[in-house]
Amino acid sequence: MKRVYLDYAATSPLRPEVLDAMLPWMTGEYGNANALYSEGKVARRALDNAREKIASLIGASPTELVFTSGGTESNNALIAGIVLAVRQKKGIDKGGNHIVRSAFEHHAVGRPVIALKRNGYETSSVKPSRDGFIKVDSFAGTLRNDTVLATVLMAQNEIGTIQPISELAEIAHSRGVLFHTDAVQALGKVAFDVRDLDIDSASFSAHKLGGPKGVGAFYLKRLTPFTATQLGGRQEGDRRSGTQNVAGAVGFATALELACKEREQETKRLTALRDRLAIGLKSLGKGISLTIDITPAATPTHPSTISETPSVTVASAGIHNNDPDNTQTPAHLPHMLSFVVPGHESETMILKLDDAGFAVSGGSACSSASLDPSHVLSAIGVPRDEAYSVLRVSLGRENTCEDVDSFLAALAKLI
Ligand code: PMP
Repeated sequence: MKRVYLDYAATSPLRPEVLDAMLPWMTGEYGNANALYSEGKVARRALDNAREKIASLIGASPTELVFTSGGTESNNALIAGIVLAVRQKKGIDKGGNHIVRSAFEHHAVGRPVIALKRNGYETSSVKPSRDGFIKVDSFAGTLRNDTVLATVLMAQNEIGTIQPISELAEIAHSRGVLFHTDAVQALGKVAFDVRDLDIDSASFSAHKLGGPKGVGAFYLKRLTPFTATQLGGRQEGDRRSGTQNVAGAVGFATALELACKEREQETKRLTALRDRLAIGLKSLGKGISLTIDITPAATPTHPSTISETPSVTVASAGIHNNDPDNTQTPAHLPHMLSFVVPGHESETMILKLDDAGFAVSGGSACSSASLDPSHVLSAIGVPRDEAYSVLRVSLGRENTCEDVDSFLAALAKLI
């Protein structure tokens, strides 16, 4: 039976081009990038090249990029590292004692923020709107005179909404607050430039964009206060100790380069597939509804989106209303769709769809151990009973119209 993988937001298959780029650094060229002799120098050059490539693709300077083991480590290192450094620099009373986060951060941000309470910090969370956005006004209202850091993820990993990061960062800065974004789901999917966004720090992970698992990076703007929490051999400019994963860094850079090169075309293709899925779901009936509305865009991008099911119009990538040009910032990831199937439990559907050959998620793979409904769905106000009936489909490079259609047929059979 052919498997159809529809969970690219959980992880994505390693691209063959990425594996090819990585292989030499796992076999012949095994040197430690910190060693002084030839094997080390060769590895160091590969690491530097990877760093330069990623930095130039995100508008950063290479010295502002630190390799890590992934998104979780990057978020943990930055959140603790920044607030502790501010406290050390300014003194406990002056450095600010308050941290702001959105209520639908990934746990890799939410938990380190909560953990800081044990060190005497206070925290506030900003509630998103029902349509899945952190509104500028609610965000501004949560900032206090003693806020030291605010963190809002760029692309929400369960519902796919893209937050107005540059506006939020601007407000934070106008109040003297540092701004971090978890860009794990956004990098390679939407335009991302640290200078345009004017953020102080960001986290990335390679495995969401066709790179290897266990590799990531963080961006830390020059001169931003930071105290490393992972201590050892002072690698990565003493911001993250540990022998660098050269093959992983090379793989990450290759994956990002490919994703950026193909982004425009892939966005169109995936948006069309996602819209096809949304239209198909609506025509299944059974009370299925999208967890959040997708704002209508000016033009559908793929003829197949409208030709086969003319009765329903569904959006392509919506645009942020507060974007004056109304062209630049898409409001939703092109490849992700979350929907409610009333009367059917997510877990049961996932297992039955698995038997039928499909891999989908009920929200986030990371919270699947919990019996509580997803904190993301609760935060946007999805009623508890509906939250237990949500499926998330996230499409990727290898998906086709046939995959979407066969998924719809399998779901129809199941419900
Ligand atoms: N942040 C977000 C928004 C994510 O979706 C994920 C992965 N599910 C992470 C952080 C964690 O990244 P990693 O798997 O690389 O630790």
